[in-house]
Amino acid sequence: MTDINVNRGTFDEVMVPVFAPASFVPERGRGSRVWDTEGRDYVDFAGGIAVTALGHGHPELLKVLHEQGEKLWHIGNGYTNAPVLRLAKRLTDLTFADRAFFANSGAEANEAALKLARRYAIDNHGPDKIEIISFTQSFHGRTFFTVSVGGQPKYAEGFGPQPQGIRHLPYNDLPKALEAIGPKTCAVIVEPVQGEGGVLPADPAFLKGLREACDQHDALLIFDEVQTGVGRTGTFYAYMQYGVTPDILTSAKALGNGFPIGAMLTTDEIAAHFKVGVHGTTYGGNPLGASIAEKVVELISDPKLLEGVNERSEAIKAHLARINERFGLFSEIRGRGLLIGAELNDAYKDRAKDVLNAAAANGVIMLIAGPNVLRFAPSLVMPMADLDEGFARIEKAIEQVVGAAAVTR
Ligand SMILES: *Cc1c(COP(=O)(O)O)cnc(C)c1O
Repeated sequence: MTDINVNRGTFDEVMVPVFAPASFVPERGRGSRVWDTEGRDYVDFAGGIAVTALGHGHPELLKVLHEQGEKLWHIGNGYTNAPVLRLAKRLTDLTFADRAFFANSGAEANEAALKLARRYAIDNHGPDKIEIISFTQSFHGRTFFTVSVGGQPKYAEGFGPQPQGIRHLPYNDLPKALEAIGPKTCAVIVEPVQGEGGVLPADPAFLKGLREACDQHDALLIFDEVQTGVGRTGTFYAYMQYGVTPDILTSAKALGNGFPIGAMLTTDEIAAHFKVGVHGTTYGGNPLGASIAEKVVELISDPKLLEGVNERSEAIKAHLARINERFGLFSEIRGRGLLIGAELNDAYKDRAKDVLNAAAANGVIMLIAGPNVLRFAPSLVMPMADLDEGFARIEKAIEQVVGAAAVTR
């Protein structure tokens, strides 16, 4: 076989252009450090979009990957396997749920949740109980059902007729939600902290109110914990710190630390409506993915690890507050655990991408959430030394952005 030479330019020749990746090409990662093909190093505050919660190349995950890789990768759902059963046991032991369904992504976990909610409501109440209530700015994935349910119309428009029976209401507006939830409501789907929508935490009273209204009208409450789950907010799932229990919970992103896997968790009573053949998947719950996710769940459910999330959260918020004292560019610093957002004030409106680019030039990988919010979702075990070094680089990047703004103003 001859070697094929590729670089960032190759992307523009051979990839479907739905992404606009950075100018450098990452090649290798260890912990919270990443190196590109030129050998430059980066401090990673993005974690592959809240995915690599145990960092890159975690030794215990590598061990499982090698061991299970030697045994069995895939067998198909006409057979079960021990890793998926152990994973389901761990997740149901940790949570309100009795049952698990595994898929390959967050969108697929939500697709399963929404289909199950529809099936449950139609089985129990007839064909009119189909209304799904969702919130503006929410993000639930990129399948056609999940973009239609998601609260960012630009992702759903231009593809022809959308699935019907979906309503969008303002997030954290309980009176409006209470007005809307009624006998026709099949389900309410909500992120405990909106991730893509700008790192907006739900008010506890909002989630409690949704729970009560759902109970009153026999509607299912679905928590999309694809981004907030698996330790991200400092508890294994965010619902645990809100004290509000959903009927269905979806999980993905950090669940496989980069190996694609998603999960839908629910109760015995609800799960019974997904009978044999009603829903399915080829890869979902295959032994390779399940064995890695099982190890991820084991490691992240450790209370010591979760305590560390809050320590790192405080450290990041302190760095952001200090930077804000110096430059005055944030109107708000918010979030829970290691899902943190810093919103730019009016003077820097729509400049989040500029900060992200300047950060990359200074050796930092970070995220934004919309045009105005810097987002931090690093490894939950990020070494404090990397965290501090990363913020020294971010401060330099911000110096450059603020300096350039001062010149142009
Ligand atoms: C990322 C995300 C999804 C979609 O997950 P994919 O794995 O990209 O399909 C769904 N919901 C939330 C809240 C997310 O953050």
